[in-house]
Amino acid sequence: MRVLAVGCHPDDLEINCYGTLARYIERKDDVFVCNVANGCMGHMVIPPDELKAIRRKEAEKAAALIGAKEYFCLDVNDLEVVSYDKDVINKMIDVIRYTKPDVIITQYPNDYQRDHNETSALVFNTCFMASIPHYTTKYPVHPKLVPIYYMEPSSGNSFTPTDYVDITNTIDIKLKALSCHESQIKWLADHVGKDVIETTRSASMYRGKLSQVKYAEAFVRCDHALKMTTSRLLP
Ligand SMILES: [Zn+2]
Repeated sequence: MRVLAVGCHPDDLEINCYGTLARYIERKDDVFVCNVANGCMGHMVIPPDELKAIRRKEAEKAAALIGAKEYFCLDVNDLEVVSYDKDVINKMIDVIRYTKPDVIITQYPNDYQRDHNETSALVFNTCFMASIPHYTTKYPVHPKLVPIYYMEPSSGNSFTPTDYVDITNTIDIKLKALSCHESQIKWLADHVGKDVIETTRSASMYRGKLSQVKYAEAFVRCDHALKMTTSRLLP
């Protein structure tokens, strides 16, 4: 199976679905990782241009750590993600057409920050557009109608999972991948006083409690027409 995970900022996927991505990789599925935003605003001191290069390296390191096939970044500045920007739409379509996924994991549509919600809308729209032959971009059409799973939003509010994935055996590599984001760990500590490693472990433990395993990640299936399937596409 080919899996494409599209997160907004570098670290969003690590927090909410890297345990699941590691499970896919364990069973020899091909996993591709993409960020829409470049993370340029996430620091108290380091200026945006310098920071976005640092954050790209951190995200690449995390993706390589779990054994993802390739990492992409659409390089949109933080706070400026808009789902109807034609240039970003075409870049996103080309990532989908290039990676040819059987399933996509992305941001939940109702999260705490507009960049996250716009990323969700961007993926929702472009995964359909990527299948339209007369909409031409650099890469050839991906004719499949790709099902989407939304990962848990940052707060977990208004989120009722439809599916859980047991990540008991991959929690360590998930947290190790998250630890690659040194600049972001410092930012979250400085900006909101949060230890992201500990809160991520706690959130995974809470989802594990609900699903009767030690650690889990939770998802909602996108239930719109042409995006549903009778198969379980999560590991
Ligand atoms: Zn984010």
